[in-house]
Amino acid sequence: MTVALLLLAYAVLLAAVGPHAMRRARWVERAPRLGIAAWQALSLAFVISLVLGGLALSVPDLRLGTDLAELLRACLAALRVQYATPGGAVIGVSGAVLALLVGVRCGWRLAVTLARAITDRRRHRETLRLLGSQPHRSGAVVIEHSVPAAYCLPGIRQDIVLTSGALNALSEEQLRSVLAHERAHLRGRHDLVAAVAIALNSAFPGLALFRAAREETVRLLELVADDAAARSTHRLVAAEALLNVAGQPSPAGAFAAGGSGTGDRIRRLITGVRPFGRAQAALVGSATAALVALPVAGFAGPAATLLDTACCVTDPGAVSHAEICEAMPVTRDCLS
Ligand SMILES: [Zn+2]
Repeated sequence: MTVALLLLAYAVLLAAVGPHAMRRARWVERAPRLGIAAWQALSLAFVISLVLGGLALSVPDLRLGTDLAELLRACLAALRVQYATPGGAVIGVSGAVLALLVGVRCGWRLAVTLARAITDRRRHRETLRLLGSQPHRSGAVVIEHSVPAAYCLPGIRQDIVLTSGALNALSEEQLRSVLAHERAHLRGRHDLVAAVAIALNSAFPGLALFRAAREETVRLLELVADDAAARSTHRLVAAEALLNVAGQPSPAGAFAAGGSGTGDRIRRLITGVRPFGRAQAALVGSATAALVALPVAGFAGPAATLLDTACCVTDPGAVSHAEICEAMPVTRDCLS
């Protein structure tokens, strides 16, 4: 019970403090990849804490081991004791429902988000075909439109789309920068990273943690692509290129070069950012890993310790409360 409460309290703490702490972190502007990893770890740690907290409520003194039969026998015996009282049954069932709901809902929303993005892109490609798009020497697809716009359609088949207006507005160097930006989105499979953040936000509507994680993930993915564009040419060229194609929102399922927060991104490219040191990166990376490792260790640690010392009953069909206490001396106190 203590482990379950600690895990659930950890989830509440992450949801309450995490978004504010991350929004105030200035280092993400200098290391957007690490920033994305930190937001993902924060989201994952919350979900894991809920699922493991629910499991810890539903299965008392869960044991981990390599012998499956032994594990099942011990669990069955302990379960029979917990679910023998109305209070214990309510707590146990609530925990199981919580773990199941969170797991199924997250998986379902992710599947729906990915399916919707695939459908949007397929329709978009059909529209491009109907419009009679032309191939560009860079491999991009060109459509006749006076508005300067550039975006990519990710997926197994990957396309970069440019309007004729963009080709007219961009110099050769700026075009190279825009293409580098779009290729960074495609190469990094930023669509999958964004899909996870979008799915979790829809799985927990109204929760500030996931709303902030979605907004920040999408923004930071643009910074990652901007940095790739700056490396391919120069950050000032990337800023000029961005200025020329800014203002056009991304089509559904696509990443536009203009994208979101264009003004701040142009400012960031013009002023430049200080490099993020290796020591700082190691520190942030360790803290990010600890966010996820903490609930897993909190759940597995006590169970693994029990495994070393507890004896397991051999016949779950013939056990009584007294026999379980006798068979599992370590858990005697919590079973009584
Ligand atoms: Zn972009």
